[in-house]
Amino acid sequence: MADYESRIEQQVKDKIKVLNKQRAGLYIAFIIFIGLLMFLPAAEAEGLPVRLSVYCSAILMLCGAAFVISFRDLLLLLITATGIPAVLLGLGQIRFELFLILLLTNAGTVFTASITGKAITRSFTNETEEINHLKTEATTDALTRLLNRNGLERAAGTAWAFCMRDKKKAGVILADIDYFKSYNDTLGHPEGDHILRQVADSIKSCFRRETDIIGRIGGDEFLIFLPDVDDDRVLEMAQSLSSSIINLKVKTALENNPGDFLSVSIGVATSTPQPDDLLVDLYKTVDKALYRAKRAGRNCISFHDKMIQIGVPVEESFHVGILSASTASGEAENQ
Ligand code: GH3
Ligand code: MG
Repeated sequence: MADYESRIEQQVKDKIKVLNKQRAGLYIAFIIFIGLLMFLPAAEAEGLPVRLSVYCSAILMLCGAAFVISFRDLLLLLITATGIPAVLLGLGQIRFELFLILLLTNAGTVFTASITGKAITRSFTNETEEINHLKTEATTDALTRLLNRNGLERAAGTAWAFCMRDKKKAGVILADIDYFKSYNDTLGHPEGDHILRQVADSIKSCFRRETDIIGRIGGDEFLIFLPDVDDDRVLEMAQSLSSSIINLKVKTALENNPGDFLSVSIGVATSTPQPDDLLVDLYKTVDKALYRAKRAGRNCISFHDKMIQIGVPVEESFHVGILSASTASGEAENQ
């Protein structure tokens, strides 16, 4: 929360800086022009101390009107703009009445500038909070609070570019709930939503590195983008994700479901991106891997040419070639 507030504060400060910068040129020209008028020989009807005192107040007034200045800086300006006439008063160069008029004018200017500055800062803060909120909503899935497709594409696009630059391997895990439609059909849509949230929380608890990017890209489909990983770690993470979903112990809603509890099928793909490689090609690869996992009977992980079943050591996993043949014959039998 403190982090969020300090981020907003910094954004507001940056906006104020830009606003002040935009106005600086014009108002500095104003100040120089007024200075020229005041100190031209033609203005010498009034003594130099009087003109200097009035000029200090004029600068303060212009700064107060043009810029958003913090209260501390306004006080510093007030002390400077009033200090010079005070010294001149002490030296007997200006009259007390003039000093009093300038003092009151300066104090009034600081008071008004401070109120206006606070109002502008408040309005900038509200605007910034609103923009940040809209930005977050545009990239967040309302149901699970994970990234939505848009947010995922942005975050993964950036991470992919870093992997390319640093020659690191990127991994993608695509998980899809098995027979999710049957949960909706038997338990109702709200319970289906509850299951989606449970799955999302489970994924969040598995992928806790700051750099892990997690999103829901469709109804019951979740994508995790992992920068700077190796094959073993991605596979390990996919297995732990799969186990954590089964450990939710959500009873299956379909009789022909292969397991007792809600499960996911997972496709995994990795790539060390070269300069012309596209992230979309990695998505295509992982999509095909997920498709193979579904065809292999669900509740399993497809990675390269391997099909890993949950609870079975990776070494005992079978190759997709063998699996495809058996699945194809199985499918033919079903038809
Ligand atoms: P498979 O094992 O082949 O993935 O089977 P499936 O039933 O999971 O496949 P399918 O993709 O056909 O089903 C996804 C279902 O998810 C269909 C849709 O009604 C449901 N769905 C999509 N979005 C939401 C949502 O936000 N909430 C709920 N409750 N259901 C959703
Ligand atoms: Mg599904």
